[in-house]
Amino acid sequence: MTKQASLPSIDTSLPLMEAFYTLQGEGFHQGKAAYFIRLAGCPVGCVWCDVKESWDETKHEKKTVRQIIKAASTFPKSIAVVTGGEPCMHDLHALTFHLKKNSFATHLETSGACPITGNWDWICLSPKKFQAPLEENIALAHELKVVIYNKSDFNWAEKYAAKVNASCQLFLQPEWSKEKKMLPLIIAYIQENPTWALSMQLHKYLQLP
Ligand code: SF4
Repeated sequence: MTKQASLPSIDTSLPLMEAFYTLQGEGFHQGKAAYFIRLAGCPVGCVWCDVKESWDETKHEKKTVRQIIKAASTFPKSIAVVTGGEPCMHDLHALTFHLKKNSFATHLETSGACPITGNWDWICLSPKKFQAPLEENIALAHELKVVIYNKSDFNWAEKYAAKVNASCQLFLQPEWSKEKKMLPLIIAYIQENPTWALSMQLHKYLQLP
């Protein structure tokens, strides 16, 4: 008798900081309804991080994939955006398997600093200077989103644009606290380099979660 491979367990638990139904505010899928699942834990340490409370996963309760899916399923089936923190600190096979089984599209937002696990419909790679992405993650990106904090970040963005696959969508996004200063530079850069597009944090302007 052949041995059956075991399915990823719905009782797998993950540290959940928060989960909420909103609109995706950034990047290629901006403006679409999305259920955000923010997992806790991040080793990257960006100085301008706006979710520093996510860094220490021990400060957040673990929830089973069953509990996460049950809460998500109280809303219309849409995109499930798995974010952090750095969600790839965790094994995401079970979460993505059961999200897809429950008719969610699986979207990942990652710095790329940890190995990507799970089954993804869309991977947004947002590399950070504070801990470089793993080389093997770069080719997996459907979307490259680079946060622009200062002028040198344009060159840094091009370094990763040269490594992603040909169909990867390219976005530049002003860091929130530097938005007034960097936005005119980003607009001028995109006009000169039209392979890039602008990503704004629409949810912050709309005061959505
Ligand atoms: Fe914050 Fe994301 Fe940077 Fe981690 S990778 S420190 S969560 S901005």
